[in-house]
Amino acid sequence: FASGLDREALLEIAVRTAVDGVDATGGRAVLGDGEEVTRLGDLGELEQLVADAERGAVTSGESREGFGETGSALAHPLASGGGAAIGTVSVWRAGRTFTDAERDLFHYLAAQAAISLDNVALHETVQRQAVTDELTGLFNHRRFQEGLTQEIERARRFGHGLGLVMLDIDNFKSVNDTYGHQVGDRVLADVARVLREFSREIDEPARYGGEELAVVLPGTDLEGAYNLAERVRAGIAALEFPLDGRGTLRVTASFGAAAMPETAGDQSSLIAAADTALYAAKRSGKNRTERAEPERARPTQ
Ligand code: GH3
Ligand code: MG
Ligand code: MG
Repeated sequence: FASGLDREALLEIAVRTAVDGVDATGGRAVLGDGEEVTRLGDLGELEQLVADAERGAVTSGESREGFGETGSALAHPLASGGGAAIGTVSVWRAGRTFTDAERDLFHYLAAQAAISLDNVALHETVQRQAVTDELTGLFNHRRFQEGLTQEIERARRFGHGLGLVMLDIDNFKSVNDTYGHQVGDRVLADVARVLREFSREIDEPARYGGEELAVVLPGTDLEGAYNLAERVRAGIAALEFPLDGRGTLRVTASFGAAAMPETAGDQSSLIAAADTALYAAKRSGKNRTERAEPERARPTQ
């Protein structure tokens, strides 16, 4: 059970093992609102009996058994982290009822499946936390660098362009100093949301560090990166933060747009190009986007 990390595959194995183990006519796993994830054998006349046992197991959080003239059914709840049941594993047999030994074995196997399912959820959470920034929900710095490496490889292989936009919130220190860190956090989270909303599915918005965000734009040239930056800039400038009784706070951000191969030839020079452009935007008054210079024109750092 523990070897598979895919829910469906896991439940498939659980049902097959249970059906074989207790010599059942059939078995199935049901998740959520009665969605049958996997089934072995036909329910036939036992459909109502099985459904009743499953419903009983979900509502009570305990295993349930059902008997009828045509056969019997066993259902075991699948609960996550000791919480409410999220589904069931069940088996049924036409004819003779399950023996005590079969019933015990079934509940043992189903409980193992429930534990494995929990491990899948835990694994997914850990995976997600390892690549995301908690405050903004964006990719973290490490995932940004990894994603950029992958996208650069892909861009080279297919001869595509690759855009990179970096942005930094203007005068953010004074937001913290004036309104407190919590307001600052809210601003940062909302700015991140704007960046995510303006990004396409394939783009990779990330928190580069502090109040500096970045987005990798596959298949995008310098002009495309610039245009995206300008849309995000307008979106951020349109945000309003009500300050209970103290009016409304607005923020702006400055942007640097760069692209491969137009303004850089590798990962570190692409980041440096976007960063240099971003600081040019700061120097020339903030709340604006600057395009990176072609690599030749830029002094090496
Ligand atoms: P500039 O317009 O030149 O970018 O000025 P700035 O004030 O934004 O720049 P500076 O680098 O001086 O300040 C950045 C501030 O961002 C300082 C730091 O405390 C704040 N900051 C970084 N991360 C967070 C965070 O997660 N939450 C909050 N509230 N503030 C943060
Ligand atoms: Mg700043
Ligand atoms: Mg900064």
